[in-house]
Parts: sequence; structure tokens; C-alpha cells
Amino acid sequence: AIYLDNAATTKPCQAAIGAINQCLTENYGNPSSLHHAGLQAQLAIDGVRRTLASILACEPGCIYFTSGATESNNLAVRGVAGAYGKHKPRVITTTVEHASVRESFRQLEQAGFEVIRIAPDSHGVFDPNAFVEAVNERTCLISMMLVNNETGHILPVRRVFYGAKRKNPQIITHCDAVQGFLKVPIRISELKADLLSLSGHKIHAAKGVGALYVRKGVRLTPLLFGGEQEHGIRPGTEPVPLIAGMGAAAAELAPTLAQRSQRVAALRAYLLEQLSPLPGITVHSPEDGSPYILNFSVANIRSEIMLHFLESKGIYVSSGSACSKGANSGVLEQFGATRAQADSAIRVSLCPENAKHELRSLVQAIAEGQATLKTAK
Ligand code: PLP
Repeated sequence: AIYLDNAATTKPCQAAIGAINQCLTENYGNPSSLHHAGLQAQLAIDGVRRTLASILACEPGCIYFTSGATESNNLAVRGVAGAYGKHKPRVITTTVEHASVRESFRQLEQAGFEVIRIAPDSHGVFDPNAFVEAVNERTCLISMMLVNNETGHILPVRRVFYGAKRKNPQIITHCDAVQGFLKVPIRISELKADLLSLSGHKIHAAKGVGALYVRKGVRLTPLLFGGEQEHGIRPGTEPVPLIAGMGAAAAELAPTLAQRSQRVAALRAYLLEQLSPLPGITVHSPEDGSPYILNFSVANIRSEIMLHFLESKGIYVSSGSACSKGANSGVLEQFGATRAQADSAIRVSLCPENAKHELRSLVQAIAEGQATLKTAK
């Protein structure tokens, strides 16, 4: 099969699989146990905390492990609202967030918070001033993703957070960095993020593990209650094997960020070039976006029809984001696509192991689809 759905999830790398197996077979203690086996498990987790912290340029003690970025995002948004929201009921976000952020804000809205959602302009560009203008002294949180998972747009997080904090130094900033981590350089202090969400399975580790960076001094109301693990912010026995796998994958990827980015950018450029002779293609990803994602519509063919046609040729892509199971999330329209374009969008998301011949096969299959599916419509 030709796998071009790496924004949905990635294939675990050998380093991650090795670390997971090693933990399952040898390092199976409970990190909270006081004996040697417990200590070994605790050391494994703390090693991963150091790995992630060195990549993000932050303190290891600021990394908290979760079950994935959905939990990290919920914990960040609802945790800040719970801790600070009583006297500061205004919260700010964008109209293009992942469902896990979007739905968290919807929950807050139902609970009586004043949710301000900032949209991009018709070219898909966010004006940082629009966020800063929305900040007042009664604002506790601003949450903005780094890289959009459907289109690859890179959002001006640093400028927004910087401006927001200048206007209100008490404001807490949260960034969903899932699609940017180990793909674009991230330094927490430069981003001015107080909270930052990561996911393991988007970086060639396993599903079911993620992390939340929490700047020292930021208070969060936990989502779960139980033991003292992760300082009580995230109680529950840590999934040591999954955490170890995330650490191994991150350690392997970190030194090659620039090379991988270049390779993927070349693949993306090649795909664009191959697509250009085809009629009815509209590209929704910006040129200066993440090189890992290319979103385009094939006129008059609904996404899921094309997706299943490509699947029949052994090619896996996505229509919009995987978690909405193909349903139109509305995000593409926020970035300027028409409804018809959004309904016929295909997201190709790359990894450095993809090859040009795979992209040629994709384009050939799309052309075939255009010839056969259109007449069937
Ligand atoms: N945020 C973004 C931008 C994503 O692309 C995803 C992946 O689906 C998530 C959050 C959720 O991550 P997870 O699958 O680890 O819950």
C-alpha cells in the first residue's frame, strides 16, 4: 500500500518499537513502587521528560504525560478555565482548531464562558491584532494551534502570544503543537507558550500517549482525580512502554528535522508539479505552510468517493481530518475554500519515507478517477 495519511497517524519507527518491547519485557515496574523495579520505570519516564525538554528547550519538570493530544488539549483548555475562569470568564481561540480544542471551548461556552473565536481572512491569513484586540483584563486563556492539521497553514502563534501577554501579562497561552512537533522548530520560550500539547503517534511512536508542557507556576484543574502521579495534574499509573516509545522516536527524529523537512518539501513540490496538468484541481495549502501536508480539491468528485477509489488502488489519503471520519469540519471554508471545494478535498500528508513513484501513482490514480468517477456521478 501507498500510505499518504501521515497527519492522521504515522507508522511506528523501529526505535519506538524497540523501546516499547524493552519496557514490556524488562522494565515493567510501576513507577510509583518504592523498590528497584519501580525506580527503573521512574528513571525511564524521567529520561523521556529530559529528551522532550531538551528538544523544546524547557525544564524536564514542565513535561506531563497524558494519553494523547486530545487529553492534553482538554486538560489545557478546561484546566486553565477551571483554575482562573471564575473572575476571568473570557477565553479566546480560533475557528480552525482541532476538534479536541474546539469541543473543549464549546463545553466552556455551555458553562457560561465568553468564547471569542478569531477567523482568518479570505486568504487564510490570521491578523495577530485581532487576537490582541479581543484580550481584556477579564481574559484568562488564549489557545491557538501551530500547524493546521487539514491544510498545513502555520499560524502566527508567537506574534499572537507575545502581543496578548504585552496587553495582559496574566493571560495563559496554550498551543496545540501536534502537527508541528519535530517538523518545524519549536522553542517554548520564543513561542511565549505557557502550555503546549504533543502527541506520540504523529511522530512515529505509539497511539495512546502524549504530553503537555506546563510552565512552572501555571495552575490547572485536573480532569481526573486519583493518585499523585504527574504531580496530581494527571493521576493514573503512567503507560511506561508508550512513554518510552515516544522518547525513542523523538530522540531519533530531533537531529534530522531540517533534512526531513527538505526532503518532504521536495516531495510536496513534485506532487504539485505532477498535479498541475490535471483539470479542476484547487490547492488549499499555502506555499509557506508545513511541507508535510498538501490539501487540494478535485472538482465535482466528492472526497469520500475519490478516497475510496484511491483506496481500491492501494493508496491511502484522507478527506479533511481523520477524526471527523470524513465529515466536513468547516475548517477548509474558514481558510477560503468554497463549500463545493471543501466537499471534494483530499489531504495528502507525507513522511520522509515516501517516494516520488508513490506520488506518481497517486496522480495517475486521480486522473483515472476523474475519467471514470465523473461519468458515474
Ligand atoms: N491536535 C491536532 C492538530 C491533531 O492533528 C490531532 C490528531 O488527530 C490531535 C490534536 C489529537 O491527537 P491525539 O490523536 O493524540 O488525541
